[in-house]
Amino acid sequence: MNFELDAIVIEDRCRSSALAARVIEKVPPHVPVSYVADGREAALPQTGARDPFGAGKRRMVVLNRRSPFLMACPSGSAEFACCGYLVLTLASNCPMDCSYCFLQEYLAGNPGFQVYANYADALDELERLAKRAPGRHLRVGTGELADSLAFDRITGMSRDLVEFFAARDGLTLELKTKTAEIDNLLKVDPKSHTIVAWTLSPDAVFRNSEHRTASPSARIKSARRVLEAGYRAGFHLDPIIAYAGAGRDYGELLDELFDFVPPERIAFFSMGTMRMTPGLRTAARERFSSDPMLLGEEVLSPDGRLRAFAPIRIALYREIVGRIKASAPKVPMYLCMEQPGVYRRVLGAEPPSAAALGDLLARG
Ligand code: SF4
Repeated sequence: MNFELDAIVIEDRCRSSALAARVIEKVPPHVPVSYVADGREAALPQTGARDPFGAGKRRMVVLNRRSPFLMACPSGSAEFACCGYLVLTLASNCPMDCSYCFLQEYLAGNPGFQVYANYADALDELERLAKRAPGRHLRVGTGELADSLAFDRITGMSRDLVEFFAARDGLTLELKTKTAEIDNLLKVDPKSHTIVAWTLSPDAVFRNSEHRTASPSARIKSARRVLEAGYRAGFHLDPIIAYAGAGRDYGELLDELFDFVPPERIAFFSMGTMRMTPGLRTAARERFSSDPMLLGEEVLSPDGRLRAFAPIRIALYREIVGRIKASAPKVPMYLCMEQPGVYRRVLGAEPPSAAALGDLLARG
């Protein structure tokens, strides 16, 4: 584990929760633990911190979530092809620090690393949703506002989740991560109802931009191990960054992946090139002024995000798709947050409906 905590703050009403007990038991003795009446206040930016967002990542706040846990993926929109992903928010923020991460803008107002002690309520929400959608197969992920497995050795949440999904035929869990934190996963039988999905980047992106994450090789080796333990494994090539030499580097990354992971065992590839709002780009460049990956030329897309010029994106996608198809012709691929025209030009077909793609990815 490449990350450490400065402090643990526990909301009074969660003192006797199973999560608080696990955190207190596992946290290293030098990390101070304190208690507050309202955990939301501990998640606010700390005054006087030079980098309030970075400081928030190192302060774990155990609290009860007040809002619903389950929502449609916030990336979904009528203008993009959509994968029908449902988001279960069990934590907010992440101890790793990728220079391009959208959380720098999205969570600037409450950057504390929040973990929700009442996550049993999330499972009740899911149960109710599944009852309302008989016959549908839903893919539900916890890796939108947090990395699904960061600090899992402290929180132990993955075991409860995997066991919950293992007992339900219509639900598939996706744990999305850039860690190698798989020890808890190896202790439970997922009954093929959990996909562990690694975000993969070439070494150049990892070294410049993905601070405190596991190396791409370590992620790939972890994928092999969870496959052997009965999990499904998926891969997100996202963000794909269009730097000089990117096509070669993504090709080498995929060569390494296919050397370790049998292509026919892969659940899916998702792809998306780097996209940033102007506000995010400003924040990212301020926090990571020497990262060359943040300096590419971009154009403003109709959705208000900056992306590489469409012909450059399409050429890079095609190179990557060609490499995947050469080794894994039957593995589903989809693009994230791209317009249908780009989707057609890259994958040669109309984007499927969100329900159809969601069902395909969930069932495997
Ligand atoms: S691992 Fe994911 S959530 Fe964590 S900082 Fe990187 S991009 Fe953000």
